[in-house]
Amino acid sequence: MRDMEFQEDKLHEECGVFGIYSHKDDVALNTYWGLFALQHRGQESAGIVVSDGKNMHVKKNMGLVTDVFKSGLSGLDGYIGLGHVRYSTTGSSMTYNVQPLKVYFDGGNLALSHNGNLTNAAALRKELAKEGCVFQTTVDSEVVLSLIAKSRKATLPERVAEAANTIKGAFAILIMSDHQIIAFRDPYGFRPLCLGHMGNGWVVTSETCALDLVGAKYIRDIKPGEMIIIDDAEKEPKSIMYADHMPAHKAHCIFEYVYFARPDSIMDGESIYKARVNMGRILARETKDIKADIVISVPDSGTPAAIGYGLEAGIPFMEGLTKNKYVGRTFIQPTQKQRLNAVRLKLNANRSLVAGKSVVMVDDSIVRGTTSGKIVQLLRDAGATAVHVCISSPPVMNSCYYGIDTSERKELIAASKTEEEIRQYIKADSLHYITMEGLRASLSVLDPDDMCYACFNAKYPDGADEEMKQGSKYQFEMGC
Ligand code: SF4
Repeated sequence: MRDMEFQEDKLHEECGVFGIYSHKDDVALNTYWGLFALQHRGQESAGIVVSDGKNMHVKKNMGLVTDVFKSGLSGLDGYIGLGHVRYSTTGSSMTYNVQPLKVYFDGGNLALSHNGNLTNAAALRKELAKEGCVFQTTVDSEVVLSLIAKSRKATLPERVAEAANTIKGAFAILIMSDHQIIAFRDPYGFRPLCLGHMGNGWVVTSETCALDLVGAKYIRDIKPGEMIIIDDAEKEPKSIMYADHMPAHKAHCIFEYVYFARPDSIMDGESIYKARVNMGRILARETKDIKADIVISVPDSGTPAAIGYGLEAGIPFMEGLTKNKYVGRTFIQPTQKQRLNAVRLKLNANRSLVAGKSVVMVDDSIVRGTTSGKIVQLLRDAGATAVHVCISSPPVMNSCYYGIDTSERKELIAASKTEEEIRQYIKADSLHYITMEGLRASLSVLDPDDMCYACFNAKYPDGADEEMKQGSKYQFEMGC
């Protein structure tokens, strides 16, 4: 028997980070919980490093958070903790790439957790290698440690700031030394990073859902181009606007709001759940000619938008598809000679709801188009009389260079097919994507001009497409 991979037709977030500074709390246990809350941001590896002021204790491996730490957290003693969860593209799933990375330099121990992707890492790595630097991993993030080690600035924050001004691309990075956490975000703010306060210390992490789980109070988001230094549990972290150059506009990843982030998180002031409901409402206004009896979602990620659609259109939202919550990524291939529709492993149509009904099916995105047609067929097999597919993001046509695994451009169905061709391919009665204007209007707090939409419109805010065309993508694995 061989294993069969369940191919979910989604973009993949590549990492989540968590850091905690507290003399009174169990930092390893809180980091474990924090990573557990961030598990959706990366399911292939997890790691925790804890500093006791002299030594750093490390535990990391391939697997889910609960698998990696199933034997407990013993030995992870100290007062500063750093954690990381990672999704990686095939080929980079190696134990030596698991973060947090840990090294020893002239200033003591140093650990790093990174969410994002460095677009100039290949060039930097080449330069550093020429100067005699050695690398122990194939991830882009390692150049940051080399740049810090190489810097001749006087203090660690200055050395980190120099490194942060040398790297390009998307980064929300946590650096842990023996005595402090330094957290910084790229000048565009592609990837999220927020600060929380526990009774006895500080937490800095990718999403507010991790703050909620450890009982930390959300304080604020780290600003694009900002660095904070946490070295005292009693005092506010120091803040430095480290970036030498700030762009005219920020470029927060819109896909965090469409799909990646957990719906209970608030990111840069914007509620993920409310933004998704708004996307559904707008999509309903944009498709008001559809005649349907019920609105259903592709669970779970399509649900808030489907609820919004139903509210706006005055059509009842129902759970027409049921998800098997225990589905993993890999399955044993059935021994009998039968063709298994892998989508059925994960989803089943609720015949009692959809039979004889015209259905609006809301999903957040179509990436390769490998599953949408199978889900449409599930609904037809269960007796749906019509299936109208409504997508709460515009067509994904371009690769992401900012820490999201989008596959090759040629694998993106919208890069080579028109909307009508995609409709025919998935055999839907109609297919509708939210417009760019609609997506922009779904934000209530953020300025729509401060977002990245490059995977839809190829407008890479920092010109990363040119950088990547020069060949950095395949020289080593990217993205953390
Ligand atoms: S290209 Fe798309 S997925 Fe990547 S950061 Fe921009 S909006 Fe997000």
